[in-house]
Amino acid sequence: MKHYPDPILKLIHSLSTLPGIGKKTAERLAMHLLHAPDRDAAELAANIIDLKKKIRLCSNCFALSDHDTCRICSDPSRDPSIICVVENPADMAAIEKANAFNGTYHILGGVLSPIDGIGPGDIRLSELFKRAASGQIREIILATKTNVEGEATAAYILDRLNTSGIRITRIASGIPMGG
Ligand code: ZN
Repeated sequence: MKHYPDPILKLIHSLSTLPGIGKKTAERLAMHLLHAPDRDAAELAANIIDLKKKIRLCSNCFALSDHDTCRICSDPSRDPSIICVVENPADMAAIEKANAFNGTYHILGGVLSPIDGIGPGDIRLSELFKRAASGQIREIILATKTNVEGEATAAYILDRLNTSGIRITRIASGIPMGG
């Protein structure tokens, strides 16, 4: 592969750092981009730069967003008094795909895992409890995964909010829910 000019070698190297892309695939993609219209290659490059520049976390629910408040939190047709607690943006996307939930989310950014040294201060629990204490929340749905860490995290939240007067329900992550 070392017979390629430097710009191609550098692109192959960058592409091969992506998950699931080996050296061979990276070489094929680089050749594809070399022969693609300038406009397409420029668009790909611009999209990558935009991604890093514009995507941040919603200040309310910590979903990925290109604004201070995400699309769901700023949608007046969603019910802000219902919070569905999930581990990560992918879990939220799975529930959104089912198109049956009309509340808002809280993305923890992980789960409690003493074995990995991940405690309550390492995920966005204080932010959740702050939202819960606002007086605006009617129901919290715990949609962490059903593995040990997910259950421990749900149990921790339930314990902390037990006397809050908020209705707490538990569902397995990814299961579509109605209203
Ligand atoms: Zn949000």
